[in-house]
Formats: sequence, C-alpha cells, structure tokens
Amino acid sequence: MTTMRSDARPRGVTYDEADLLRRARAARERAYAPYSQFRVGAVVVTTEGEAFEGVNVENASFRTGTCAEQAAIAVMVAAGVRGPLAAVAIVGDGPEPCTPCGACRQVILEFGPQALVYASGDAGRPLIRPISELLPDAFGPRRLGSGRRS
Ligand SMILES: [Zn+2]
Repeated sequence: MTTMRSDARPRGVTYDEADLLRRARAARERAYAPYSQFRVGAVVVTTEGEAFEGVNVENASFRTGTCAEQAAIAVMVAAGVRGPLAAVAIVGDGPEPCTPCGACRQVILEFGPQALVYASGDAGRPLIRPISELLPDAFGPRRLGSGRRS
C-alpha cells in the first residue's frame, strides 16, 4: 500500500495510511445502508493527528441520507475541531476504490484544502489524490471572502 507520493503529504504530519484504511473498513461495518446495501466508512485525520470516523446513513426519504465523509467531518466539528484535515480515508463496498461524491469533495475542501484522499474498495490498491486534484478550480472559503462587499 505504498502508492502515495512521498512529497504529497503535508510536512510534519504523521499518520499511518494503512491504519486509516483499516479503521475506515471497520467503521463501514456500522453503516446504515438498508436501501442501497452500499456501505461506506470514512476516517478523517487532522494535521494534529486527531481522527474521526463516519459512516453513510441512509433514509427512506433518500435525499436526506448522509455520506460517510460528511458524517466524519460533522463528528469532528461537533467535537470542537475545525481541522485542517491532513487525510481522508474512505472504504466502500465492492472491489473498486470508493471515491468521494461531488458534495463530499466540496466538504473535504472546506476543512482540508491540502488533504490527501485515500479511496479504497475491497480489492487492489487505494486511489490516492490530493483534494485539489479531485476538485479542480474549486469554489471555496477564500473565493467567497474575496467577493464580500465592505
Ligand atoms: Zn458523498
């Protein structure tokens, strides 16, 4: 599991990507996905090394479901932590890497503009990408601030 480029990780940040993926895989067991049967677990870790877990939570009213990544970030914020995120590990059902959906990419960017995303399934190597590559030309807090009238 060493597909990561050594220069991609923010300086001074220590975490074990294999451990993050193990934790995301274990969290996935607690997912609530009775409708899609597609379970996802996620772990976000800050540059200070604090980690928070999330799972997808579906609802009979499909639009109100929550993704695992957003759930993990909500847990982080509820704990009084605002990031910045160093890494996000995601493990979904099935063999292919479970990449974050568009909405989750935006939420990851909000709390971790330098974050590395590790997307995994049950086979093969994880896909590893900086969030800036997963969401190019993004609209984020800085752009919003530059449009404010004073
Ligand atoms: Zn999502």
